[in-house]
Amino acid sequence: MELTLKELEAACQSCRNCPLGKTRTNLVFGVGVPDAKVMFVGEGPGAQEDAQGKPFVGQSGQLLDKYLAVIDLDRSKNIYIGNMVKCRPPQNRDPKPEETEACLPWLRKQVKCLRPKIIVCLGRIAAQRLISPDFRVTRQHGQFIEKGGILFMGTFHPAALLRNPAQKADALSDFQALRDKLEALGIK
Ligand code: SF4
Repeated sequence: MELTLKELEAACQSCRNCPLGKTRTNLVFGVGVPDAKVMFVGEGPGAQEDAQGKPFVGQSGQLLDKYLAVIDLDRSKNIYIGNMVKCRPPQNRDPKPEETEACLPWLRKQVKCLRPKIIVCLGRIAAQRLISPDFRVTRQHGQFIEKGGILFMGTFHPAALLRNPAQKADALSDFQALRDKLEALGIK
């Protein structure tokens, strides 16, 4: 029997499969609609996400919401947003490869449940694990790659855009490419 997203989240609450489970304040499982055709995957929760139990709620989340709004996507209406690891890495460090691997089964279950047509990797950590180990965001952003019946695209993590605003134009073109792809696939 397959679990619903809510049932999966409830099951994940007790996960201690890696050390991040011991230091988190809240699990950050994901948000969005259960019939989302597009899923966004970041690397892991930051301080505000850990405090609120929701992904992308800080400054970078606000920036992400602005890009989403440009192409008529909204976490409350038509997408789902999650992370590679569901618990905050201390001091906002990158998740370690063994933590990402430990958490991957939860992401796989989310994908199985949602059955998205497109997965957008936000930043290097997600893109290198889900698309290709040698993925370079600065060179390969905005390209669609089919894997296992799902189209993957890597783009800049919004936190990186806050640090380097010169990349915002490229990020915007990636979101416009996403909109064009959704239209081509007849998804709205
Ligand atoms: S990060 Fe993932 S694997 Fe590690 S404790 Fe949290 S939910 Fe479990």
